Amino acid sequence: MRMSQLFAPTLWEVPAEAETISHQYLLRAGMIRRIAAGIYTYLPLAQRVLEKIEEIVREEMNKQGGQELKMPTLHPAELWQESSRWDAYGKELFRLQDRHERDYCLGPTHEEVITDLVRREVNSYRQLPLLLYQIQTKFRDEIRPRFGLIRGREFTMKDLYSFDRDQEGLDISYQKMYDAYSAIFRRCALKFQVVEADTGAIGGTDSHEFIVVADTGEDEIVYCEGCDYAANVERAVAADEEEDYREPEGELELVSTPGVSTIDAVASFFKAPPRRLLKTLVYLAIDGETYKPVVVVLRGDREVNEIKLQNHLGCMHLALADAETVREITGAPVGFAGPVGLVDVPLLIDREVMAVVNGVCGANKADYHWINVNPGRDFPTSEIADIRRVVAGDKCHSCGSPLHSARGIEVGHIFKLGTKYSEDLGATFLDGEGRERPIVMGCYGIGVPRTMAAAIEQNHDEKGIIWPMSIAPYQVVIVPVNSKNSEQMDLAEVLYAEMNEAGIEVVIDDRDERAGVKFNDADLIGFPLRVTIGSRSLKEGKVEIKDRATGKVTLVKAGEAVGVLQEKIKKASAAR
Ligand code: ATP
Ligand code: MG
Repeated sequence: MRMSQLFAPTLWEVPAEAETISHQYLLRAGMIRRIAAGIYTYLPLAQRVLEKIEEIVREEMNKQGGQELKMPTLHPAELWQESSRWDAYGKELFRLQDRHERDYCLGPTHEEVITDLVRREVNSYRQLPLLLYQIQTKFRDEIRPRFGLIRGREFTMKDLYSFDRDQEGLDISYQKMYDAYSAIFRRCALKFQVVEADTGAIGGTDSHEFIVVADTGEDEIVYCEGCDYAANVERAVAADEEEDYREPEGELELVSTPGVSTIDAVASFFKAPPRRLLKTLVYLAIDGETYKPVVVVLRGDREVNEIKLQNHLGCMHLALADAETVREITGAPVGFAGPVGLVDVPLLIDREVMAVVNGVCGANKADYHWINVNPGRDFPTSEIADIRRVVAGDKCHSCGSPLHSARGIEVGHIFKLGTKYSEDLGATFLDGEGRERPIVMGCYGIGVPRTMAAAIEQNHDEKGIIWPMSIAPYQVVIVPVNSKNSEQMDLAEVLYAEMNEAGIEVVIDDRDERAGVKFNDADLIGFPLRVTIGSRSLKEGKVEIKDRATGKVTLVKAGEAVGVLQEKIKKASAAR
């Protein structure tokens, strides 16, 4: 490819709209352009990277026995009604109507469509297991599309669905995908963590996310260095903290606390550590049009993990009650709620609260608190669950070491679905004994553009992108320093022809530009190797090869350049 013809409009200003590095560099390197929130055109350089990632994905899927197909993006509403997701998916689903006013949606994921196919075509255990996948466009009306390709509204996903006879079969398919995903992200040169992930209130047993560690990531994970425990914070559990004091239970006592309503204010009023306070929150568990209040109690120094809470309650949505509802339920303004004496509303106690002795809580009366409050004695503890948010420093539940936390970008997600969709849609098969059984399913997704963006988040410097060799848009750029110098230009053309001949993916910067402009563009776009042809080295018949990642420069004879480059490309590709 000739730089003079390459459609890569680079920018030198940092676009104001771009918050993250990958978003900035994708725009600046002329790789993407936005047409509306979360909707982008991929320009030729991006298209090449995406194709490379897709090819790696395809190879690893095929290696595990996956078969590629392609499903439609336009889905009839009936299928989504069968699985109840027409309602449950909510506003993230793009909905539309045809000329006969029939409802459709644009597929955000394809469980319904693939299960419909399989229920029609598979009826015997002999046809199982099946691993079917596609690499295709998904549509999700995200609440907050942002960070360029990381959270878009239209994006490419590789989604594979596994169909097995039983749980053991699913375990095998799942492991295959676990291995394939690990291989894919390794081959894309990403540093990643595999973490346990939330499986939601409905369906699913096991689930793992593949998280690319990056400070700008939207996900938070916790991990243990003492053992291999790692989980998305949405799902993370930790050992309960032991209380470090022992004292006899005191007598429950009402204390006047005018205007003392926050955890900090209560803690300093009573000179008690926040962990001895009983934080009491009123939530509404929402299912469609109906909702019911739930009062949640946890230690004053803890936060609620709303995902755990929602899973425990099994509701579709969750919201904190407004001040008026709090007053209705507790009889007091916000800040004075407590579990003592609350009778008409379900009480859910976080497990850690059970160890608190002589705690402090609101008295459900403006400007009053109870002291010497003890779980069980002073309020019912019939419903106990782990609903707290784990934080760094908490102890690992399996080995006791302190947990660490990090931010990251979820690039892949694997999920044991079980029989949720096969039961809803009636995808059954006859087993060896002629009994009808639901097919056991799994689903497995990788966001292709998000993976590209994550690769930039991990591989860049202040000058631009540093593409890993395996997914670079081109492997080499040739830069003749002086475009007016015919000796340099001629050699550049000779090397360009030789490299093309040798199968190297190469761009020649044949533009009539200053050297600085050409070098800056090369660094911004991030070609892994740059061949520089300048007068000084040329006097000795040599050219410079510069490694974008290390900055290391080697001088080689012009006649040996292609061989050296081939060696370097081979080494960089094998390193992963
Ligand atoms: P998230 O929690 O980030 O919204 P998700 O759980 O909705 O992700 P899945 O439904 O598991 O994501 O989709 C599989 C993969 O598709 C994700 O791991 C991610 O790589 C990609 N993906 C999901 N949503 C988006 C999006 N809005 N833009 C780009 N890629 C996405
Ligand atoms: Mg999502």
